[in-house]
Amino acid sequence: LISAKDIKKNFGAVEALKGVSIDVAEGEKVVVIGPSGSGKSVLIRCMNALERPDSGELSVDGMDLMARKVDSRALASRVAMVFQGYNLYPHKTVLENVTFAPEKVLKVPKAEAEEHAREYLERVGLTSKLDKFPDQLSGGQQQRVAIARALNMHPKIMLLDEPTSALDPEMVNEVLDVIKSLAETNMTIVMVTHEMGLARDAADKVVFMENGLVVDSGTPEYLFGPDSNERVQAFLSKIL
Ligand code: ATP
Ligand code: MG
Repeated sequence: LISAKDIKKNFGAVEALKGVSIDVAEGEKVVVIGPSGSGKSVLIRCMNALERPDSGELSVDGMDLMARKVDSRALASRVAMVFQGYNLYPHKTVLENVTFAPEKVLKVPKAEAEEHAREYLERVGLTSKLDKFPDQLSGGQQQRVAIARALNMHPKIMLLDEPTSALDPEMVNEVLDVIKSLAETNMTIVMVTHEMGLARDAADKVVFMENGLVVDSGTPEYLFGPDSNERVQAFLSKIL
């Protein structure tokens, strides 16, 4: 469903991606780990056309993201992204935040967008907060709104970039639970996280990046086991 071949991306003198290849099958859950600055965010942003690789091949659900012009509406109906910060619209209510993009971008009728929004907000446990504004919610609740908002685009692919790392520790679990429940659906998920427990539980494949390159990848059993690359072992010994 996602195919990247030898993609490179420079920012001036910084080689953020030095030739990354990765394949994600339909329904697969891929977790990307690695040290700070290794290119994880740049890679995941390329998958949503927020960055364009300088070279290589990148296709997402049949769309060529190396093309000069990418149809952003078509891409938005396929791929949704949740960031570290929640980026909710501060002057819209929870319900409005979740219905806005489907209505405006996908032209879903208001009543239908709202009906689905209510379902997704129930799924993330926020039925009681529909009419609240973002600043009336905790960080964990805001991040769950962001996830409901992404779900309401009915994406085939969900990209998450460190969805729990801006949260206070006591709010991490409520968001992890929502993500774990997503991982039980047939949605295709690519996620950057420092939560190794989540990687272990939810991933079909874990990809380790360092210095703009994929150093090793495989099942959680392999990657977290004793036979993975020594760079992986060194990284894990530092963070676990
Ligand atoms: P972290 O775990 O800290 O989020 P990361 O693996 O996500 O790190 P990236 O954000 O992908 O790292 O960054 C990879 C490299 O590219 C870094 O050296 C970063 O400074 C650089 N970089 C990323 N985005 C830009 C940008 N828009 N302009 C300039 N340099 C950038
Ligand atoms: Mg990052």
